[in-house]
Amino acid sequence: MINPDNHYDVIIVGAGPVGGYLARRLRENEISVLMLEEHNQIGRPFQCAGLVNPAAMEKIGAYDTVLTRIWGARMYSPSGIEIEIGSPDKVRTWSVCRKLFDERVVSQAIESGAQLLLSSRPKSAEVNSIGVNLTVDVNGTETNFSCKMLCGADGAHSWVRRTFRMGRPKEMMIGFQVDVTGYPGVDGRLDMFTGQNVAPGFFAWAIPSGDTTRIGNWSVPEMLDGRSCEDLYDALRNSELWRERFSNCREVGRFCGPIPAGLLRKPVKERVAVFGDAAGLCKPTTGGGIGKGFDQVDIMIEELSRAIQQDNFSPNVIERMNSSMSELRRNQNRSRALRNAFLTECSDEELDDVFAVWSRPDVISLIDEYGEIENPIPLGMKMLKNVPEFRRLTNKAVRALIWG
Ligand SMILES: Cc1cc2nc3c(=O)[nH]c(=O)nc-3n(C[C@H](O)[C@H](O)[C@H](O)COP(=O)(O)OP(=O)(O)OC[C@H]3O[C@@H](n4cnc5c(N)ncnc54)[C@H](O)[C@@H]3O)c2cc1C
Repeated sequence: MINPDNHYDVIIVGAGPVGGYLARRLRENEISVLMLEEHNQIGRPFQCAGLVNPAAMEKIGAYDTVLTRIWGARMYSPSGIEIEIGSPDKVRTWSVCRKLFDERVVSQAIESGAQLLLSSRPKSAEVNSIGVNLTVDVNGTETNFSCKMLCGADGAHSWVRRTFRMGRPKEMMIGFQVDVTGYPGVDGRLDMFTGQNVAPGFFAWAIPSGDTTRIGNWSVPEMLDGRSCEDLYDALRNSELWRERFSNCREVGRFCGPIPAGLLRKPVKERVAVFGDAAGLCKPTTGGGIGKGFDQVDIMIEELSRAIQQDNFSPNVIERMNSSMSELRRNQNRSRALRNAFLTECSDEELDDVFAVWSRPDVISLIDEYGEIENPIPLGMKMLKNVPEFRRLTNKAVRALIWG
């Protein structure tokens, strides 16, 4: 049921995981919320490897959407040096059915009193001194709405971000993925492949997801050198090193999507804010965006709710909200610098050298002790400090930290 006067405290464009979580958190503070979703169902189409980190999963509690608990990884250098990390007694991350997960997040928002319009997308929006007026295409019919604040949780190509000229994420990467049956992985352990041939600057993955395995790669367009992500996938499955592993795979689906990793300078502008992928919050180290989007909501929720309740969007209040993102931005920049030092800026030969060191038992135990998919900074710093062979990377990392 839509409010009779079509007025809400907050209208959220996009009912993905971040929009759904934001709606629930706002409802906890008694703020009226309408979510607009352009598709006619939640969670489709999805573009995701489906990994949800433990902290994000705890916030939703959707353990019944888990397909596989991921406790370890096998990582391969370009020439095939293998390192194995993790042990089955510690869950590192969850591989979920992304459609069910998104549905759960949005259901929680609706149960807490948020309203949802499917097949609905804004056509225009205008901010004035008392609020935001929107014209929305609701299932083919134009309808006017108003709100105190407009939030964009509308993904990497955010309409809200573009309409209000809020800047662009620093990095926009591309992720590509194929779902296959018949991959001979180990239940609970993901595989990561590196090398210019298969994932220039980043890595390719094979993630167990219940009955299928998600095989993917990600990259930055400038590093593809004329190749497509599909070419990289073909190079992986046909490579001499890995051909055997892919020989019984049958494809059941494929998709490609953007991964924005570079938080906007100002995610809040007047009565408009952007969240999650719309704000450029994916992790530069793994491309994961769900956990970081939830973190952003948690960091901003009290200040945001106060501004809405008091209808106070003064420059000071906006500045406070933007400043509250500084730590997230710093961490994202540090992660990118470490990724560049250890992976992106390494040639295949250098990567083989890095893996040769990583595969030593003393370094593996360092990884097992300090390695966290969610936060690679402590491990990266520890390695730069404690492993003499990595000291030469320190200059590169420090330079990137300063200029990155
Ligand atoms: C190949 C690949 C693999 C990935 N793997 C992972 C992973 O394993 N783990 C992880 O955490 N992240 C992963 N990501 C990133 C992850 O998918 C995103 O970070 C996450 O979905 C962001 O959530 P969101 O709610 O901000 O945006 P989205 O999930 O993109 O949701 C945005 C919603 O807004 C709707 N929308 C968009 N525009 C409009 C509009 N104009 N009007 C109305 N509705 C609109 C969309 O339909 C959608 O429902 C991956 C991405 C790719 C491409």
